[in-house]
Amino acid sequence: MYGNTEEELLTNAKKHGMEVHGYTEESWNEEVSKNLDHFRKLIKTS
Ligand SMILES: [Zn+2]
Repeated sequence: MYGNTEEELLTNAKKHGMEVHGYTEESWNEEVSKNLDHFRKLIKTS
């Protein structure tokens, strides 16, 4: 993963989620809002 700011990292994570895991924009946003801490950790370790 690449990106300098958290916003950029989230954008890249979203792209990955949509391309690799088949999330839609809507389902991705839902996941992120439910699991923001989880995604922060994911982003930082990937
Ligand atoms: Zn993945």
